[in-house]
Amino acid sequence: MSDLFEGKEPQDVLHYFEELARIPHGSGNTDKISGYIEDFAEKRGLSCTRDRIGNCIIRKEASSGYEKAPVLILQGHMDMVCEQNAGVSLDMEKEPIHLVLDPDGDTLHADGTTLGADDGIGVAMMLAVLADDTLSHPALECIFTVDEETGMDGAVALDCSDLRGRLLLNLDSEEEGLITAGCAGGAVISFTFSEPMQERKRKKGVPARLTVEGLLGGHSGEMIGLGRASANALLGRALYMLCQEFPLRVAKVSGGTKDNAITREAEALLLFPEDTHTAEVEAKVRTLSAQIRREYQETDPGIEIGITFGKERKETVFTRHTAAGLIEFLACFPQGVMEYTPQDRTAPQTSLNLGVLQTEESGVKAVFLVRSSINSQKEALCARLFALGEAVGASVKQLSAYPAWEFVPVSAFRDQCAALYEQHAGKKARVLVIHGGLECGLLSDKIPGLDAVSIGPDIHDIHTPKEHISLRSIARTYAYVREILSSVDGTMSGEGES
Ligand SMILES: [Zn+2]
Repeated sequence: MSDLFEGKEPQDVLHYFEELARIPHGSGNTDKISGYIEDFAEKRGLSCTRDRIGNCIIRKEASSGYEKAPVLILQGHMDMVCEQNAGVSLDMEKEPIHLVLDPDGDTLHADGTTLGADDGIGVAMMLAVLADDTLSHPALECIFTVDEETGMDGAVALDCSDLRGRLLLNLDSEEEGLITAGCAGGAVISFTFSEPMQERKRKKGVPARLTVEGLLGGHSGEMIGLGRASANALLGRALYMLCQEFPLRVAKVSGGTKDNAITREAEALLLFPEDTHTAEVEAKVRTLSAQIRREYQETDPGIEIGITFGKERKETVFTRHTAAGLIEFLACFPQGVMEYTPQDRTAPQTSLNLGVLQTEESGVKAVFLVRSSINSQKEALCARLFALGEAVGASVKQLSAYPAWEFVPVSAFRDQCAALYEQHAGKKARVLVIHGGLECGLLSDKIPGLDAVSIGPDIHDIHTPKEHISLRSIARTYAYVREILSSVDGTMSGEGES
């Protein structure tokens, strides 16, 4: 180990984290890290299976005195999101991440890139547990999945039929003191307004660029409930307002490229009739911009809506029929939180985000990510989108989906983990259903009777180059993990009643 973590605890976890950081392991580039996990097991004489796509399962026998305890599954994902700041040119496919420890001696981040603590720290804790023969624990099944960050492809393909464990400790949460007890499922729904280039019209008029800018955006899982605006929704509002008064034509609309990101910018290329009083249009847009800024002054204060006119020219525009459907759609589509959980009125239960809007050769494409912790509510919202598609003349498809991890009212393992946290930390753990995605839903579907929780240390700004983690939080969380391991000794209530 380098001297970066000299004198820091927990040494073994930090050692493995440093090793993982040396191996490039973005989603889709996990062959090497799967190989590292296999080598690790082989060196220690532990059994390891690796499947076709690279998921690994390492098994370790129970420590002495725990032979009769129920098998515990530990789980984390090996892949990470690779993002870097403009101006940083690290080839994250091939080059290691540079770890930086701040002068406070506690905050760890990477040099201009994502850190990969999501979920490298979960993987490092599992390796530290497996390498340590002094710990007390039941028989362990440690699952290391690939490609969680791109649709949970690893967990989708994972064969769980040989797993004996019915208790799952997932290590992919990002807040100390939080016991995640459920999460939203997701579905990706695409809309297509088909109109190939050759069917569009060449028209003469005054072109205008309508822009929506300056929004905060954010992740559509964790941040959908913060009251931030969607640039696509504001674009729709502006377009609808303008087309009520001006016979405008639409050449292009665009806003966002990632279904899980709330759009920060959107724009439309429009064509107005030659005799349009452009100053009148500009004034209307200015008024709308001011209204919207006032509406969002608390939650999204930088919004700017503007319109700039160009010189009269010919432009290829959508037929009136297609444009009318498109504008109706952009003015009407549901966006944001649809329902909050009954247990906590600030926690989103069902939401959706229109994160992709693009004009292509074949027409306009729009993609939603729908999330809900209640599977039936997710399906109902998807059905609503299908109905909207019919009304506005778009063809609608479901591209992918993963199930929710639904909250179960009675969980002996969760109660046990909560009680241990309280003893350990001197305060109550928060037990929550989160709105992001975790692999526990897929595993719960595949393993009947699975009793699952998810925990993790404080990790901030995941999926961005600002991602950082607290070493002290890692130490406390790792101590908590070891407490949980030694508590699974067969005496837990609800166990062994076969
Ligand atoms: Zn993760």
